[in-house]
Amino acid sequence: MKKFILSIDQGTTSTRTIIFDEKFDIVGSDQLEFKQLFPKDGCVEHDPLEIFETVLKTSKATIKKAKLNVNQISGIGITNQRETVVVWNKETGEPIYNAIVWQDRRTVNYCKELAKKGLAKKIQKITGLVIDAYFSATKIKWVLDNIESSKKLLKDNKLLFGTIDCWLLWKLTEGRSYFTEATNASRTMLFDIKKNCWSEELLKIFGIPRSILPDVKDSSDDFGFTTLLGGEIPIGGIAGDQQAATIGQACFEPGSIKSTYGTGCFMLMNTGENIKISKNNLLTTIAYRINGKNTYALEGSIFIAGAAIQWLRDSLKIIKSAEETEKLYGQNDKTQQIYFVPAFVGLGAPYWDGEARGAIFGMTRNTGIADFVKAAIDSVAYQTKDLVLAMERDSGLSIKKLKVDGGMVKNEQFLQFLSNILISLCDRPKITETTALGAAYLAGLSLGLIKSTKDIEKKWQSEKVFKPKLHKKEVKYLYDGWLKAIKKISIKKNRNKN
Ligand code: ADP
Repeated sequence: MKKFILSIDQGTTSTRTIIFDEKFDIVGSDQLEFKQLFPKDGCVEHDPLEIFETVLKTSKATIKKAKLNVNQISGIGITNQRETVVVWNKETGEPIYNAIVWQDRRTVNYCKELAKKGLAKKIQKITGLVIDAYFSATKIKWVLDNIESSKKLLKDNKLLFGTIDCWLLWKLTEGRSYFTEATNASRTMLFDIKKNCWSEELLKIFGIPRSILPDVKDSSDDFGFTTLLGGEIPIGGIAGDQQAATIGQACFEPGSIKSTYGTGCFMLMNTGENIKISKNNLLTTIAYRINGKNTYALEGSIFIAGAAIQWLRDSLKIIKSAEETEKLYGQNDKTQQIYFVPAFVGLGAPYWDGEARGAIFGMTRNTGIADFVKAAIDSVAYQTKDLVLAMERDSGLSIKKLKVDGGMVKNEQFLQFLSNILISLCDRPKITETTALGAAYLAGLSLGLIKSTKDIEKKWQSEKVFKPKLHKKEVKYLYDGWLKAIKKISIKKNRNKN
């Protein structure tokens, strides 16, 4: 009988479930969006029970669409939005508060205090991360400090914390499995990525008891089983979304890089068994842990990539669909040089300037919709160049090729400009659902359907390669303009100067 793997991709705005066959071709999928809650400026929350509902519903719908029986599913892989925090009552299974989402900025001031105390170096050395509200630790502390019911539950030993993977696993196994895995743990700002354990020292600093944290398994491991989909199905693989995409893109060699262009952009470079602590404001993170061995990565995150296109569509309403940008891109006025810095929520790596805000430079009376579109798309390429240069400085390697995926890579104009500005190849794979694919591979490894990462490398197929077409001098001219624009909106640099 043919064997299939069900991959659950629990993202920030929707849950997507995909079934892969033995060759890792897609045979069915389903997707459901869920509510985004914005209780206050800067706060972003989800309902953890609603998220779990979307997981059950999309899983059942995908099995039905693929016309399969549950007993044909060999295993489940899970990949998830990272850093998001759920705290729940272990007896009732009820969350004590909404999930606090990675985008949530409520703990910014507390992070500033940590930095003032001079903890940045220590935290970076242990966790590989820069101090930021983005990661789980300060969010957990917020729940413990602000949600009254946490105090008694903690005293009665009934409180549990988990990132989304851990919450889903606990729910799917009806409380039998309380685990997280290494890549998710490495985004909490509590995990010692060298010693592979929760850091006692950091738990003390944040006032978080070890008793509310799960044990940490490999990315490909025996996570228990679920019976909630109709039969008994083992769960064999878990990874945070960006790490899963790194696996789906078969970035197993040190120096290989993938860049995912969805709402934001996340670039990961495999650095092998060595921990490289960034001197250029990138993050050091666990790329995957297989057979008890960590492989590390450098990561750069851009908060606004495809979201810049959404802004043109939903706020400015100057385009009707993201696809329209492909046609409009070439229709810009070639005499103009417009720069759009989409720092709507500050700047991510390598600037980490939370107070900077967006701007558009170089407009004239002739500036029109096509110019806005080009500037928005180009901004994603320029931000990528910022990351690539930081990675080159940190790794000492010269980057010749980028494997790309995510919703934006449908746009060939974007990929051509990206290749031009990076002066490197941009390789688009046949399967661009790399996140779900990576989770399926991890499950396949633990279930014995794939033997090693070498098998995954053999399966990876390129669909189209984009080659640089601009002269170096022109690239320098264009990129210099971008750097000038960044300088103008950068609060940190200007403040330091004054
Ligand atoms: P996420 O997983 O973060 O929700 P996706 O990978 O589904 O994101 O990608 C969606 C993003 O890609 C949206 O922000 C959208 O604006 C952008 N996008 C989709 N199609 C195109 C296109 N043809 N050109 C440019 N951007 C696009």
